Amino acid sequence: MTKTHKIVLAGNPNSGKTTVFNALTGARQHVGNYPGVTVEQIIGSFTLDDNNIEVTDLPGTYSLTASSPEELIARNVIITEKPEVVVNIVDASNLERNLFLTLQFMELGVPMILVLNMIDNARSKGIEIDIERLSKLFGTRVVCTVGNKSDGIYELKKVIAEVVLEKEKHSSNKVNYSDELTIPIQGLTKILIDNSIAQEGYRIPWLAIKLLEKDKEIIELVKSFDSGEKALNEANKLIEKLENDVDEPSEILVSEHRYGFIAGTCREVVNTTLQKRRDISEAIDSVVTHKVFGIPLFLSLMYLVFYLTFTVGDPFMEWIEFGFGWLGRFISSWWPTGSESALKSLIVDGMIAGVGGVLVFLPNIAFLFLAIAILEGTGYMARVAFIMDRLMNKIGLHGKSFIPMLIGFGCSVPAIMGTRTLNLKRDRMTTMLVVPLMSCGARIPIYALIIPAFFAKRWEALVMFSIYVIGIIVAIICAKLLRSTLFKGENEPFVMELPPYRIPTSKSIGIHMWSRTVIYLKKAGTLLLAASVILWILSNYPKKDKLDRDYAGEITKIEQSQLVQKEKAAKIQNIKNEKMAELLAYTCTGRLGHAIEPALKPMGFDWKIGTALIGAFPAKELFVSQMGIVFALGEINEENSVALREELPKHYNGLQAYCIMLFCLLSAPCIATFAVTKRESNSWFWAFFQLGGLTALAYLVTTAVYQVGMLF
Ligand code: GDP
Ligand code: MG
Repeated sequence: MTKTHKIVLAGNPNSGKTTVFNALTGARQHVGNYPGVTVEQIIGSFTLDDNNIEVTDLPGTYSLTASSPEELIARNVIITEKPEVVVNIVDASNLERNLFLTLQFMELGVPMILVLNMIDNARSKGIEIDIERLSKLFGTRVVCTVGNKSDGIYELKKVIAEVVLEKEKHSSNKVNYSDELTIPIQGLTKILIDNSIAQEGYRIPWLAIKLLEKDKEIIELVKSFDSGEKALNEANKLIEKLENDVDEPSEILVSEHRYGFIAGTCREVVNTTLQKRRDISEAIDSVVTHKVFGIPLFLSLMYLVFYLTFTVGDPFMEWIEFGFGWLGRFISSWWPTGSESALKSLIVDGMIAGVGGVLVFLPNIAFLFLAIAILEGTGYMARVAFIMDRLMNKIGLHGKSFIPMLIGFGCSVPAIMGTRTLNLKRDRMTTMLVVPLMSCGARIPIYALIIPAFFAKRWEALVMFSIYVIGIIVAIICAKLLRSTLFKGENEPFVMELPPYRIPTSKSIGIHMWSRTVIYLKKAGTLLLAASVILWILSNYPKKDKLDRDYAGEITKIEQSQLVQKEKAAKIQNIKNEKMAELLAYTCTGRLGHAIEPALKPMGFDWKIGTALIGAFPAKELFVSQMGIVFALGEINEENSVALREELPKHYNGLQAYCIMLFCLLSAPCIATFAVTKRESNSWFWAFFQLGGLTALAYLVTTAVYQVGMLF
């Protein structure tokens, strides 16, 4: 006995559904009404190789909302009668408009075959469609037909038979919208699950989307559950907050993302060279997503952003420096001058210097976040991700990895959290592990200290540039290695949304910038403060009671000598430095530095640099603070940081200086990165893998550079 398989035809009105239906079923069909409503129900059938296939021609619809009886019927037939496959008839000459319905079938998560009907019209309009790519992106079979000529009908029959006979009927790919929509969908899904609202046949994330669309039928459905009212209350709160954040109704937000998804799909699969440009948005897209100009345009824009980050940030930096300097002097004034109070030193040299040295860079960082928020808000970043997709694929990374990598130039912590947009573990882990190689903002103080100290003015920019580029190149190599060893697998096909361009509201930009800046402020107020205190303790204790030399005596001798005032001051400063060095060598960091010195030698580092590298572990900025402590110049004010710049070249050469920067660039991420990697990967193993791997990498590369450099 042959089994009967039930399938449905669905599509927009006038997409040629009835024509294809007739071509499939010939004369064997009957017409009735759907139960309870006077909407025509047409059913027919055909057989292929012993398989009897029953086809229902659903009413033509543009959408699957509950706004008309046709749409309700279409969706209820699909949900409750569970046809084995939905054959979606699409007018290929109007792909963009027709895919709006297709996308909703994908949201429903039903098995689907995509039929590009009227392919003759599309071709004569000069539209070429990359069938294979479309099939990959949507995860469905795609068949081209000309319904009124019965072209492609036999192939369609075969594909239908194949799909219904497949053991595992795989549904179309999951639709992944960008975070703006995905996060509320996840939130609502959680609310529904928590209130145990689940109905046979309905995917919960689909219910969540319908709640965002304020679908009356689905709201009624949720209400019918015991805890329905409670769930709806929670859902409404979430939706209200969302609408407040994005400044538009949630149903509009949903359709905007759908259009963005479709625009991205069409940009990817439709050859537009022959297609008429329809509007401004497409005109802009043709420039910014251009195959050749897209990337240079983006790089120039980023250069502008980085340049502005520093020029705009500078005056604010000086204010903050001045503020902390004043605070330090003010607190010092509570003690008599020259007092050696440990508490004073803890507050001024430890806490204020440590946190202040970092907060000085807040304006740069806030500006960078502002620029990124603007670029994201206008929709430009989505285009950048779009053009980067191909480039990243070559590296072995997912196109969406690009955004976290970019954020990584600011700070690895939000960058690693940003990898959540990646669905596959292999993509996510690879990105997460290499993100710290993007030179983050916390390394800037190190470069800012070292570069002017060791390199001529005209080389400064180039040296800085080389450090950033080395980071990127090493990241690319590591990503390729990881993707071909630990995280093997094919690239996941996916659609980059191309949302409409819009002028972002100052509110939404403000929210974005602020929430990111707050992360940085929190870091300064908690982790850096605590780390500064610990570093201060480690660099001050244990205290040496009996010093090897009589420094006070030596100083008195110099003061009584015949030298001119200037020479006296210099000699005294020298002796003070030597005293500090002796004291420091006795403390915890000093001892640790000495202990690891032999290991550091191949990189050209001495024990003093060693202590600063240990200091830099909690946060890279602390390298600078610790160098200040080591050279006993540890108070924060302009003069002293200049003095440190003068002091360093007396002890080290340019090669060593470059190696310091290189090591700081490549080595173990800060403790916050370690913690966030642990949390996001949910594994201590990967957190330690990143820590150990990067440290080993930094050690090898820096040693190689130093040893080769020594030959010249
Ligand atoms: P429905 O509303 O989706 O059921 O669309 P119909 O099947 O009634 O078709 C609408 C019109 O498009 C009819 O005049 C068909 O002859 C025509 N048509 C259907 N398929 C094709 C096709 O592949 N190519 C062309 N050029 N015309 C088609
Ligand atoms: Mg019809």
